[in-house]
Amino acid sequence: MGINTTAYQQILTELTSANAQLVAVSKTKPVEDIAALYALGQIDFGENYVQELVEKQAVLPKQIRWHFIGHLQTNKVKYIAPFVSLIHGVDSFKLLKEISKQAVKNNRTIDCLLQIHIATEESKFGFSVEELQALQLELPLPNIVIKGLMGMATNTDQTSVIAAEFASLQQLYLSLKKEIPSIDTLSMGMSGDYQLAIQNGSNMVRIGSLLFGARNYPTTSI
Ligand SMILES: *Cc1c(COP(=O)(O)O)cnc(C)c1O
Repeated sequence: MGINTTAYQQILTELTSANAQLVAVSKTKPVEDIAALYALGQIDFGENYVQELVEKQAVLPKQIRWHFIGHLQTNKVKYIAPFVSLIHGVDSFKLLKEISKQAVKNNRTIDCLLQIHIATEESKFGFSVEELQALQLELPLPNIVIKGLMGMATNTDQTSVIAAEFASLQQLYLSLKKEIPSIDTLSMGMSGDYQLAIQNGSNMVRIGSLLFGARNYPTTSI
């Protein structure tokens, strides 16, 4: 428990010179730690589990911008639709349609990132390039703004593999940006690979353990 303020300041310095934004990933961490980082000026926080996010949002300052970065189930969109700032992991048209529906219901616009499958692992969610092209034909949707793309690299020590995956996502991002004017966000990079991500054009990194310490898994996905 407890936040690493030295790491926070150092990461902020690196990100500022790269023009990248920090999403502090607080999943499984207590509200006290989030409040402590918020007191240092951090506004953007990322969570992976709907129930946990809803509970934290209720008790923490309303100025916090909450990012949903996990795998979002369609039937849970309604719980976060009233307040969520950016949904990173949109990985199906069905999910995007539901976010649109709930955004309309709440009379607000919800910003979304489309998750692209760049890793070699089967388990990582996301659109393929072909699926992304098919999705574009269905846009725009009411009360949805597509702000950009999100991706997770393969969990490996091989830097060249990670760099190649980030580079391919950057290419896709740059070409999509030409077609969809609202696109300005490329969310890639975590504690272990954020520097590589920035070198490959990321402008939003999602960092948890470097700021809050290692997490104690397992957590139930709720
Ligand atoms: C947990 C998580 C992170 C943060 O991971 P760290 O390695 O702790 O920085 C980033 N992105 C996603 C999608 C996550 O689930």
